[in-house]
Amino acid sequence: MAGQQLDIATRLVHAGERQVPGAVPVSTPIYASVTYTYGSMAEVDKVFGGEMPGYVYSRYANPTLTALENAVHSLEGGFGASAFGSGMAALHAALLACEIASGCTVLASQDLYGATIGLLHNVFTSFGIDTIMVDYSDLAALEKKAREVRPRIMIAETVSNPLLKVADLACCAEIAHAVGARLIVDNTFATPYLCRPFDLGADMVVHSATKYLAGHGDVMGGIAIAREEPQHNALRSIMKLAGGIMSPYDAHEILRGLKTLALRVERQCSNARTIAEKLSADRRVARVHYPGLAAGEARRKLERTLRPSYAGAMVAIELANNTKEGAFRFMDALRLVVRSTSLGDVFSSALHPATASHRDVAPARRRALGITDGLVRLSIGVEHVDDILADVSQALDASAA
Ligand code: PLP
Repeated sequence: MAGQQLDIATRLVHAGERQVPGAVPVSTPIYASVTYTYGSMAEVDKVFGGEMPGYVYSRYANPTLTALENAVHSLEGGFGASAFGSGMAALHAALLACEIASGCTVLASQDLYGATIGLLHNVFTSFGIDTIMVDYSDLAALEKKAREVRPRIMIAETVSNPLLKVADLACCAEIAHAVGARLIVDNTFATPYLCRPFDLGADMVVHSATKYLAGHGDVMGGIAIAREEPQHNALRSIMKLAGGIMSPYDAHEILRGLKTLALRVERQCSNARTIAEKLSADRRVARVHYPGLAAGEARRKLERTLRPSYAGAMVAIELANNTKEGAFRFMDALRLVVRSTSLGDVFSSALHPATASHRDVAPARRRALGITDGLVRLSIGVEHVDDILADVSQALDASAA
C-alpha cells in the first residue's frame, strides 16, 4: 500500500495489515507465542544478528505489535513507532529515549496530565532532574524561560487537560530547537486524525492508546513514535530491557479500534461542537472550555495546530454555582453520560478534575491554573447528540436544585 498517498481515513482501515507474504488472514491474528523457532541454528543466529527478518522473543518484538506499530507509524510519520503497556510506560520510555539524565532540566507545560507531572516530579527528580513548569500558551514567557534554563527536553500536550488549550506546536518546536532541546508531544487528546505533531516540528510523539486510538474503554496501551533513528533505537532498547511491553491481545484490540478512528472522531467532534455551542448559551453554565469557541490568538493557535474546522471532542464546563457539591450533584444525576476517569471512548463520559485527574495538585495551585471546584470535563461520545444534550440538561437542573 502506498502509505502516504492515501487519505488518513483509508490508512486507518488498512495500514499495518496483510504484510506477511503468501495467503494470509485479512486481519492480523493475535500472536500469543512468546518464542519462535526456525529450521536451523544458522537461521536463529541470523535472526538474532539482524541479518534475517524474524522474531525471537515477544519482549523484543511480536508480529501483532508490529502490525499496530506500523499502522501508527503510517498515521503519525516519523521513523518508527513502539508499543508499550500503557500511556505512562510510553511517556517514561520517550523521556529516557530523549536522554533525560542527571543534571538536566525538563521544561514542561503546566497543563500536563497529572501522572506525567507526577512521573517528572516524583520519579525523575530523585535522579537529579529538574522539572520547571510553565504556561505553554504564553509563547513569549516560554521562549524567555527556555533561553534561561536551557532544557534538554520540552514536553507539551497538543490539547491540554482539563482546560483544553491548544498548543502552538510549530512555535514550541522552534523554541525548543533554538536552545538545543527535544520536543515531546503527547498527542492523546488530538489523535493523528486531528494533528500530526511531526509535521509541526516535534521530535517524539506519545499516545495513551487507552483513549481514542482504542476507543472502547476496554484496553490499556501506549505508543511512542520517534522522529529519528537513534531515538527509535533507544525506544526499542528500553522496551527490551525495561520490559514495559504491550500484550498482543491488547495490540489486537487497539489495531481494531484504529480502523474506526476517523468515523468515531468525526462524529465525536461534531457532537462536541453542538454541545459546546448549546451550553455556551445556557444560563446554568458559567463557562464553557472548548477550543472551537476561541477567538483571537487562541483561535490562530487552533487553526495552526489542528485539522482545519476541527476542535476536538472534549468539552469542559464550569457550572453556574461553581462548587464541588454542585458538580457532584450534576455528575450524580447523569443517566447516559458515564462517570468515568478515562476519555476518548465511544460512550460519553464525565470527570471531575479537582477530585480525580488533579486531586494531587494543591488547591491553591489548582485555582491558579483555573481548575475550579465546579469544573466538569466531558468526553463526548458517538451517541445521538440530542440524547447527550438531554442528559446533560436534566443533570444541570438537578445541580441547580
Ligand atoms: N496522557 C494523557 C493526556 C492522558 O490523559 C493519560 C491518561 O489519562 C495518559 C497520558 C496516561 O495514559 P495511560 O492511562 O494509558 O497510562
